[in-house]
Amino acid sequence: MTGNIHVVVVGGGYAGVMAANRMTMRDDVTVTLVNPRREFVHRVRLHQLVGGSDAAVVAYQEVLAEGVRLAVDTVTRIDAPARRVTLAADGRLDYDYLIYAVGSGGTELSVPGAAEFAHPIGTLEAAQRLRTVLDAAPAAAPVTVVGAGPTGIETAAELAEQGRRVTLVCGGVLGPYLHSRGRRSVAKRLAQLGVSVIDGSGAKVTAVTRDAVRFADGRELPSEITVWSVGFGVPDLAARSGLSTDAVGRLLTDETLTSMDDPRIVAAGDSAAPSGLPLRMSCLNAIPLGARAADTVLSRLAGDQPKNLHQSFYAQCVSLGRKAGIYQFANRSDVAVWLHIDDGLGARIKELVCKGIPKHLADEANKPGSFSLHRAPGGVAKRRKLLRASRAEVRAAVDRAA
Ligand SMILES: Cc1cc2nc3c(=O)[nH]c(=O)nc-3n(C[C@H](O)[C@H](O)[C@H](O)COP(=O)(O)OP(=O)(O)OC[C@H]3O[C@@H](n4cnc5c(N)ncnc54)[C@H](O)[C@@H]3O)c2cc1C
Repeated sequence: MTGNIHVVVVGGGYAGVMAANRMTMRDDVTVTLVNPRREFVHRVRLHQLVGGSDAAVVAYQEVLAEGVRLAVDTVTRIDAPARRVTLAADGRLDYDYLIYAVGSGGTELSVPGAAEFAHPIGTLEAAQRLRTVLDAAPAAAPVTVVGAGPTGIETAAELAEQGRRVTLVCGGVLGPYLHSRGRRSVAKRLAQLGVSVIDGSGAKVTAVTRDAVRFADGRELPSEITVWSVGFGVPDLAARSGLSTDAVGRLLTDETLTSMDDPRIVAAGDSAAPSGLPLRMSCLNAIPLGARAADTVLSRLAGDQPKNLHQSFYAQCVSLGRKAGIYQFANRSDVAVWLHIDDGLGARIKELVCKGIPKHLADEANKPGSFSLHRAPGGVAKRRKLLRASRAEVRAAVDRAA
């Protein structure tokens, strides 16, 4: 390819910023990052925005390479055959390569009453709205957090530390990712903060009203503010644009993160589904995936075969208010192991991680190509094993159906 090459990155979160910064390694590449906001959302701090201890935004100047053009806009359609995206506010952009990094947000509020009365927390705007609602409510108002993954746990702890009366409804187990030892530690800290935890599969919320949540067994829990934290959904841009996606709408790619439909489209972060076996939605995975996506495009530009993705490092770091946290170690299959660090040291590690994220992005902005976690050895064999197992599973399902 000769002349100037235009790479459009859709989505300026962790994966998109990492990818955009890395693309500036080549002088003959122009990079445009399209993102609907002027500021970078530090999503892993959104529960702190709700609790009032952080604004959860960072100026793009601090994390984005000078050479990247930021277009504050929203991509409404990708026209793959024409290599063009349509923008909501300002026309169209042609591209040579597109990096799809639109991330995730809250899930559909399908439980009756949830869309009307519950408050999601997965995006900046949702977290800001929830903060306003909390500010307007009396301190003694009962708060229910529905969903006890890391985001629900962090939100419940943050609000309880502010003196709120919080109930955390798990709809299953507390912190499904955690090892049983880690879970016990989290349960202990939540109890110290005064959070009531309702777990077990019977305690699934089936309806939300203005002042209560209702369970499957007919019980009702008074709830003046209901926070909805039951997982992340992804934008439907890829599906709307006629690109192949998995069942939830993540762009389907091969192991180099290249779209199954088009070698000019590469995906990263929460909205990528490599081989239909996506990594856990997390910042921990989004940043290396962003680097991997850029490396795939850079390899193609250099006429080289892009390398397959391999992640070798997994963990989960959950804050439990400002004074405690847990760092849950995991194996190379992303399964939690017995080892964790909790209490005050856990909180300090979590804070270091949160501070380290914009720094990783800034380092890549200042020295493109310097990030290397996605190239760390290990992880390849595990990924291959996982792919083989999933192929066997698909074959078995086809056989069963035949
Ligand atoms: C409260 C909370 C705490 C969390 N804590 C942790 C944690 O401790 N550790 C961890 O690993 N993960 C954590 N996560 C998860 C983590 O934030 C996400 O997995 C991560 O943000 C994914 O990064 P991403 O770059 O794929 O997407 P995002 O960060 O979601 O960024 C995507 C960007 O794309 C933009 N976009 C979407 N559609 C379009 C479009 N059509 N056109 C242009 N731009 C578009 C979005 O507005 C957004 O700016 C947490 C999440 C929340 C909500």
